[in-house]
Amino acid sequence: MNKPIISFEFFPPQTPEGTEKLTATRRLLATLKPEFFSVTFGAGGSTQDRTLETIRKIHAEGYQAAPHLSCVGSTRENIRALLHTYKDMGIKRIVALRGDLPSGMGSIGEFQYANELVSFIRAETGEHFHIEVAAYPEFHPQANSARDDMLNFKRKMHAGANSAITQYFYNADAYFRFVEETRKLGVTAPIVPGIMPIARYSQLARFSDTCGAEIPRWMRKTLEGYGDDVESVQRFGCDVVTQLCEKLNAGGAPGLHFYTLNQANASLEILKQLGYHA
Ligand code: FAD
Repeated sequence: MNKPIISFEFFPPQTPEGTEKLTATRRLLATLKPEFFSVTFGAGGSTQDRTLETIRKIHAEGYQAAPHLSCVGSTRENIRALLHTYKDMGIKRIVALRGDLPSGMGSIGEFQYANELVSFIRAETGEHFHIEVAAYPEFHPQANSARDDMLNFKRKMHAGANSAITQYFYNADAYFRFVEETRKLGVTAPIVPGIMPIARYSQLARFSDTCGAEIPRWMRKTLEGYGDDVESVQRFGCDVVTQLCEKLNAGGAPGLHFYTLNQANASLEILKQLGYHA
């Protein structure tokens, strides 16, 4: 079986030590020849300079770098300037998002939803960028209904996105169902599963509560049972996530996008089990 393409996501580091650590992480992950490295963007522009700086470094090292760009709390002028900066640098891929404005932080800005950002990128820069958008196999927490969320996803794809990356999930059926249902609505572009390796349970539980990704009860109970035994958490996490990736690969997923949290080991271990080698 052909191995799906892989990609890795980072957040922009805040300190010189974080930057050094991310460089080391990137070197390790680069040995697996990913399609691209992406870098998140704090909604409201809170990480704008650090995202740009991290993208600049990755690009200068010769790897394909994909900045995330979230539009909430921003203006057309600001987004236009950023797009042209990236275009002039030779960046070819963008992950276009709405983002979530932290409570108490300013107004919603000039874009309300990601589909408006996608249309704006196409209007400003034509076909220059490969545009990725977000997809939610277990549905976005603010969606009125599953169907509305899929129709909104379709609107975003039809605004000019080339492919999608999903929120992470641990239930492969949710992904396959989402792909099938959105295909019926006319979405033909690749929908790449987002994979969250499990390194620490408390952190994962916190993230999952906010973004609406479900940790199945049998996994929660097992992970809770390990308490502070980090080694057991990681061993179990590696097994479960490797099996999830195997199912996704066998079912025809077009790629795997890893949420690395700037750590190499958990993703490397899973990919090694899947037969990816340097
Ligand atoms: P949208 O597609 O705009 O959807 C948001 C909600 O609005 C959904 O409930 C949808 O159903 C509804 N909706 C959409 N369009 C319409 C419409 N036209 N009319 C009415 N309702 C509508 N966040 C960051 O801040 N920075 C990042 O770097 C980042 N990276 C991410 C990467 C991936 C792969 C994923 C999956 C998420 C990422 N996020 C990031 C989180 C994301 O910003 C949040 O989940 C956010 O709440 C929604 O963003 P979106 O682009 O999916 O929004």
